[in-house]
Amino acid sequence: MLLYRIAPEGSWAVAEFASDPRLRILLSDPFETAPGDWEYEKEIPREGASLLAPVRPTKIVCVGRNYMEHAKELGNSVPEEPLLFLKALSSLIGPGATIVLPPESQRVEHEGEIAVVMRRRLSRGATPAEARAAVLGVVCANDVSARDLQRKDAVFARSKSFDTFCPIGPAVWVEASLEDLAVVTRVNGAERQRGHVREMAFPLLDLLLYSSRMMTLLPGDLLLTGTPAGVGPLVDGDLVEVEIPGLGVLANPVAAWRAHE
Ligand code: ZN
Repeated sequence: MLLYRIAPEGSWAVAEFASDPRLRILLSDPFETAPGDWEYEKEIPREGASLLAPVRPTKIVCVGRNYMEHAKELGNSVPEEPLLFLKALSSLIGPGATIVLPPESQRVEHEGEIAVVMRRRLSRGATPAEARAAVLGVVCANDVSARDLQRKDAVFARSKSFDTFCPIGPAVWVEASLEDLAVVTRVNGAERQRGHVREMAFPLLDLLLYSSRMMTLLPGDLLLTGTPAGVGPLVDGDLVEVEIPGLGVLANPVAAWRAHE
């Protein structure tokens, strides 16, 4: 089950498969109602529907160096505990929106990731079963990073939070199997990254439990679970795609900052 948000009002819309030619407008609140009880209004053709970022989180929690090969390529080791950081909410954009390269950075890179979307509140003391039940699903995310600034700064606040640096979409894959997910990143059609949850140093549910000990996760919150090896630069005119097979493709064009626009 794929849950989209569509412009202009931000209505929820549902498709069974990424290739469905029609979307069903959802009347129920997907954070309050189980998918089996969802009620629908009308159907609309997918063609021409304008997709928004599928959720509006209260925070974007991210995990660094969660894949061994990626930690190595940046000269790091996998940490003993998950390495958490945050991205600003203002960095969030939806499918098709442009990633703008800021003039402060000479090296902006893609990081294709699997992001977990929370359905329910999760806080300190939760059990693994509660963590699993608190998940709405997963979404493709791109943890766009100004690598030169990341290397220069002790904290990631600047390098990870420029406006447009967090594309998510195209839909939330509700009831996805958290133990069998892959993520593929392409730039201009050429594959750059490929990873699977099996290769993660810390599995998804462990990351949720760990994060929820520090900060209560709320409905709609996002947890970006780290990027596989193969990160690389984005330049003006690129098209970057992050795909979770079974969910669909998040595609975003890349453009240089143009002050006069
Ligand atoms: Zn990342």
